[in-house]
Order: sequence, then C-alpha cells, then structure tokens
Amino acid sequence: GVGLSAHDLPEWKKDAYGKSVTFGQKSKLSIQEQRRSLPIYKLKNELVQAVIDNQVLVVIGETGSGKTTQVAQYLAEAGYTAKGKIGITQPRRVAATSVAKRVAEEFGCRLGEEVGYSIRFEDCTGPETVIKYMTDGMLLREILADENLSKYSVIMLDEAHERTVGTDVLFGLLKQLVGRRPELRLIVTSATLDAEKFSGYFFDCNIFTIPGRTFPVEIFYTKQPESDYLDASLITVLEIHLSEPEGDILLFLTGQEEIDYACQCLHDRMKGLGKNVPELIILPVYSALPSEMQSRIFEPAPPGKRKVVVATNIAEASLTIDGIFYVIDPGFAKQNVYNPKMGLDSLVITPISQASAKQRAGRAGRTGPGKCYRLYTESAFRSEMSPTSIPEIQRINLGPTALTMKAMGIHDLFSFDFMDPPSHEALVSAMGQLYSLGALDEEGYLTKLGSRMSEFPMDPPLSKMLIASVDLGCSDEVLTIIAMIQTKNIFYRPREKQTQADQKRSKFFQAEGDHLTLLAVYEAWRSKNFSIPWCYENFVQSRSLIRARDVRKQLLSIMDRYKLKVSSAGRNVTKIRKAIAAGFFFHAARKDPQEGYRTLADNQVVYIDPSSALFRRQPDWVIYNELVMTTKEYMRDVTAVDPMWLAELAPRFFRVADSKRISKRKRQERIEPLYDRYNEADSWRLSRRRA
Ligand code: ADP
Ligand code: MG
Repeated sequence: GVGLSAHDLPEWKKDAYGKSVTFGQKSKLSIQEQRRSLPIYKLKNELVQAVIDNQVLVVIGETGSGKTTQVAQYLAEAGYTAKGKIGITQPRRVAATSVAKRVAEEFGCRLGEEVGYSIRFEDCTGPETVIKYMTDGMLLREILADENLSKYSVIMLDEAHERTVGTDVLFGLLKQLVGRRPELRLIVTSATLDAEKFSGYFFDCNIFTIPGRTFPVEIFYTKQPESDYLDASLITVLEIHLSEPEGDILLFLTGQEEIDYACQCLHDRMKGLGKNVPELIILPVYSALPSEMQSRIFEPAPPGKRKVVVATNIAEASLTIDGIFYVIDPGFAKQNVYNPKMGLDSLVITPISQASAKQRAGRAGRTGPGKCYRLYTESAFRSEMSPTSIPEIQRINLGPTALTMKAMGIHDLFSFDFMDPPSHEALVSAMGQLYSLGALDEEGYLTKLGSRMSEFPMDPPLSKMLIASVDLGCSDEVLTIIAMIQTKNIFYRPREKQTQADQKRSKFFQAEGDHLTLLAVYEAWRSKNFSIPWCYENFVQSRSLIRARDVRKQLLSIMDRYKLKVSSAGRNVTKIRKAIAAGFFFHAARKDPQEGYRTLADNQVVYIDPSSALFRRQPDWVIYNELVMTTKEYMRDVTAVDPMWLAELAPRFFRVADSKRISKRKRQERIEPLYDRYNEADSWRLSRRRA
C-alpha cells in the first residue's frame, strides 16, 4: 500500500491569489435546463444576429461557455440548415466524436442522423446530417473534392487557438472562399488570447465576446523541481482525495501508456489504503479511448465519491468536464517534433507554455473556486516556459500538408497566405520529401503518382507504399499491413502474464520482420472468422483488430473508387517488402559494426525494439516504421530489406556509390543518401520563378 508520510509529498508554495473556498452543490439539471444555464444562452439572439450581419465572425469565450455545443444548434434553429450544412471543425478526433454525441442528445436525434461526425477512417453521418462535427483534416479533404464547399452554409473553425496545421491551412483557404461565396458564413472560435490576431487576419472582422463565468483558482507550485512528475502527480491525487473537501480532480499527463499506467497505480494504491477511505473513481481520457468509455468521464460522481480524470492535453480546452475543483499540472505534453533529415515527425514529451498552464489551471474554476497544483517551481514557470505555444505549422513535417495543398492546385506554397508562415526551409524540405517519393516533379508540380497519393488520408510514405503495392501486385497484403500499422496496440501484454503473452506473440513472428508478422496476425484472425475469443486466447487486442478491419475497409473503398487493382502476392513476400521499402526508404538503417544500427538518412544510432520479430536475427539492412525513444532510440515495426532495392525504388534519394572508386564487394553495400535536393533551397525557388 501507499504510506502517505509527509516527506513523500511535494512541498507546496502558495501563490498570492485566491482565498476562501466554498463548494457548490452538485445539481441534477435536465439536459435542456443545462443548455439554458450556459453563459452563451443569454446571448443567443445577439449571436444569431451577429452571424447574419457578419460574414466572418470571431467568437471568444471561456471554455465551457457553450461555443462548441450550442452555436450550431442556434444557427440550425435560425434556419441556416435549410441553406446547407453547418460544419464544425475540431482539432482532435475525440473532441469531434464526443461533442457530436452530446449535441445529438441535446438535439434529440440519434448520432449520424441530423447530427453526425466525420473523422479519419470513420464517417458517422447520413443523408439527413445537417450539423456535422469533423476534424480539421477531414474538412481539408472535403475541400479537395469541392473547393467551394457548396454543401455548407456555415463553417465554424472551432478551438482555433489550438493552431493545428489543419486549422492554419483552413484559415488561408476559407479566407479566399468567403470572397467567392458571399452567402457563406465563417465563424472562428477561440479561447480569449488570440482573438485580435484572428480578427486582424480575417479582414478586421468583428469579435463577439461571451462574458465568462469563472471563479478564482488558487495556484500552488512545488518548492523544488520534481524529478519524477508521474509519481508526484499520483501522490498529489491521493493527498487531495484524503484531505480536501469534495470536488473532482483533473490530472494532465502526456499519453495513453502513461495514463494507463497512472490509473493502474492509483487503483493499486487506493486498494492499499483499505476500506475506510472514500471511493475514488479513476477515469482515463485519451484519443484512442473507445467512445463508451469516453462518455463516462462526463457522468457526475455519486454522492460521497470523488472522480479523478487522468487526461492528455485534450482536457485543456477541447473537452469540458463539469465538477472539476482540483487540477494537477505536471507541465508536460506530447508534441510532434520534426526531424528534418528523416523527413518525419516524432512525438516527444515537451514542457508546455505559460498559456497552456493558465488554461489548465482555469479548468479548476468553472463550477466554483478551485485549486491548481503545478508540479514545477514558480521560477520555472516564469523563466523556463515560453509565453505561448509555437503553432504546429512552424514545428512539424509539412510533407502531408504540402501534398494536400498541391493537390488543391496551390502550386506556390511559398506565397500562400498563412497566418504564421512556416520557414522557407521547412517548405523546401517538405517538397524534397515529396520529390523523393515521386509525388512532385523537378519543377515542384504534382505528378500522377502524387495525385493518387493525395486521395488517401495518410502520410505520404504510407500512401506511396500502398500505390507501389498496386504495381508490384501485392496490394491485398499491403492494405492489411497499413491498416494494422495505423491501428497500433495490436498485442496485449498484461503485467501479470507477460511471458505467456510473449510466447503467443512469437508464434506469429515472420523471419522477414514485423510488417509480415502483423499481416500474419490479421490473416490468422480472418481465417477464424474474425473471432473475438480467438483474440483473447492469443493476447491480441480485439478492439484494435476490429478497428484495423474498419480502416482496411475504408482504404479499400478508396482503392475501388480510383480503380486501383487489389491483388495478392501469394507466396512472394519479397513484393511486399519492396512495397514497404518504396514508401519508407527514409527509414532505412544499417547494422553498425560497433553496436545497434545507423540510420542512412542521418547516421543516428538506433536499435531494434526488443519486442520485434527481428530482435534475435539482427539483419544487416532494415526499414522501420517509427522510432520510439525509451531507454534508447528504438525502431518499431522493422522489416529486413535488400539495400539494392533502395537505389532501385528511391533513385531520387539514394544512389549506388561511384563504382570506379570502390571495390566490387563494397559496391554492393554502398548505398548513399542524396541530399542535393534538400540542401539546395534555391533550386525550388528557381523553378517557382519559372512557373
Ligand atoms: P465551449 O466550447 O465554450 O468550451 P462546450 O460547448 O464544449 O463549451 O461545453 C458546454 C457544456 O456542455 C459544458 O458544460 C460541458 O460539460 C457540456 N458537455 C460537452 N460535451 C459533453 C458530453 N459529451 N457529455 C456531457 N456534457 C458535455
Ligand atoms: Mg469548445
């Protein structure tokens, strides 16, 4: 059990603001009463009138005031849906699905009828759908198909302050579109900070403010930096639970694995505290959480019990959970960070900004005065955290975005009207990546291959792999592999049965690597008629496999639409490995005589993940799907390749070294990356001038 002795506890330092703490009673309002009690309700008529009068309107208001759930319903009542759909974008998948579910309930329909959602690989809309929640990426795809969005009467770019790359591109596209469609209405909503900036960008449009209803939040900092923020958070949760008055707790962690682990520890420690302690309801929230679990976080805790929600950044602004009085903020979030040489992003745990920290603290003051426990020092807050977050567009790989924009006919990315333009180098590097994949030609124009690739809602290396598989005659298998890769968390490895789980897993191992192992798992499941008990017996997550099957189906329907041939490689698995190499040659690595492997793209030292089918074999040349940094930099999902394929399949990225200068034996091995395209920023600029 947990011994909560004084020295375990972070030492708290009280900040100056916030004094008395009183707690409101939990109320049980009907759903319509709840709607009427939201701050936005009193301004309903003014808001609708403002939308009528202003083609573009920035709407700001505290989180929880009702922007996301109410605005579309008000406009529907005012008749806008008679002229077209109302589309509301969300930066996150979970927000789109969970909000749509709630609004369908408020609206009095089933999800997918009048109110629906659309996220990647999941379309829950129907012919009647008039209020459509979607990720910003999905709206981009709709613009790809219909640049005028003619089915829509209103577009709301919600949570615009999140500044995802999708939202930023939509800003530019919709700014043009409102000029072409005077009757279209554009609403941009945001937490207060950026309103002026947004208005300035959108022709100095009006700002509609929903007066906030917030309570003071008392801020605590630790006296010393915490060496283990996870443990400190868990101790703080229990501390609050055992000593503070009623009110739910919100703990911000960085990702699924960490959250699941934290919830498990909380369960264990609560058990250790025995029966005399009030019950703590422990609820995880992250984007991969199944939706039936998601709705549980909104249910109020029964009297005498307390709820702790352990969430990713998603609960910072996108989701509002009522009844939170205590926020624990370790000060970290997972962010996509770009590695320019590899041409791809990786998720890295990074410190949050001051703006994020304030937003997190604010979550405690919605229902009454609250408390926020920051697991970092006050001086770290003031001097080490940046005031605001850098917009995603200035920090991630722009390959996918560049491809979509090119497919929309935007040739000159450099002069696109970005609110905060990405660096020239980042755009050049994105185009370099697309050029290497064969999606762009020498002049930077979209090739036929590039245009095909843009039809698939996936990163360019994946869509290249899929299209290469059509030519190689193995698309049936590659479809499955892609679906499995995208799904993640295929294998189930409970702590108490690890050996057994590993044994089962190794039965699927294929000598060629993990991609084919994933294929073998799916095929085995298929041969058992997609049986769920089979999943349990084999320590495979049934939910993941079901999702993989859905993703596969979605991809298949896109293949059918464009008449791309689905054929099987039969026993010739070399074809499949070649298709993988055709998309993922950026991720080639070669065994290092000293230790581990070295990536070809930037000579970084990496290792095969111990769970890989190739961990024992350690072949000379491999291609991996992703790098995961734990104790070392590990390659996940690895397949053995023949180095000559690299030069054959990616001639724009690799070449076989000059044969005159090296021996024949060496020649076999010498595959060199070509960086000319990447480094010569000017070559693109030149072609742009010519264009
Ligand atoms: P805003 O967009 O201004 O932050 P929202 O419209 O998201 O505000 O939230 C308004 C209210 O609706 C909040 O009180 C929130 O708790 C509630 N709400 C939102 N989604 C759900 C849901 N899925 N289940 C229950 N309540 C929800
Ligand atoms: Mg919202």
